[in-house]
Amino acid sequence: MRVKLLHITPEPEALIARCARVSHRSEERSSPDADRKLVRKLISWGHESVLEFASATFLVEGMSRAAANQLTRHRLASFVQESQRFVNVRDRGLVRPPSFTDAQWEKAATLHRTALELYEELLEEGVPKEDARYVLPIGTETRLVVSANFREWRHIIRLRGSPAAQWEIRLFAKKVLEILREHAPTVFGDLEVTG
Ligand SMILES: Cc1cc2nc3c(=O)[nH]c(=O)nc-3n(C[C@H](O)[C@H](O)[C@H](O)COP(=O)(O)OP(=O)(O)OC[C@H]3O[C@@H](n4cnc5c(N)ncnc54)[C@H](O)[C@@H]3O)c2cc1C
Repeated sequence: MRVKLLHITPEPEALIARCARVSHRSEERSSPDADRKLVRKLISWGHESVLEFASATFLVEGMSRAAANQLTRHRLASFVQESQRFVNVRDRGLVRPPSFTDAQWEKAATLHRTALELYEELLEEGVPKEDARYVLPIGTETRLVVSANFREWRHIIRLRGSPAAQWEIRLFAKKVLEILREHAPTVFGDLEVTG
């Protein structure tokens, strides 16, 4: 799975602090250090609404439809996903779950090849893409763009990065967290995705 940052609010932590300071008219107290302290305090108090002033957008490739179904349940995020109705997906791979042995994976790959052959056959026989896709496995790779504000990213990372979550969506949460931490270490520094 590849997760690429397409856009992030410039100087997100300075913006969050700048917005938060309006409530107490404390803009004159702003400095990089004071802003970091303020953002940390706001998060520890649970005053996370100010995190909504910053956002980040990612391009995700090589995620399975199974994981994408989970990600798109997050209603406060925005999405565009590659359409299997309009795009021929004959070149899309199958995501390999780490629990598969080589022998199991070989069988899955064979099944995938057979499904793709049938997909092509159905298309050649005039079946529309939106119907031919029904024979494709849920592990088929997809591409999507996902955008959310920082409050929602914290929520997604906490839920999807937890040990209770499924391995592929956890991997996504881990990759997103790594990128967000680089750009906003104060906002995302307290989160972690283990394992
Ligand atoms: C480990 C795990 C297992 C899961 N298993 C299943 C399963 O078996 N079956 C299944 O169907 N789903 C399952 N889910 C998905 C889960 O039920 C949620 O749909 C998904 O995690 C999105 O969470 P959310 O609603 O908190 O987040 P978002 O949709 O991202 O919303 C963020 C927050 O905004 C607020 N919010 C959003 N919309 C509303 C609203 N309409 N009204 C009030 N508040 C709102 C809530 O506070 C919410 O937490 C699972 C999720 C996890 C992490």
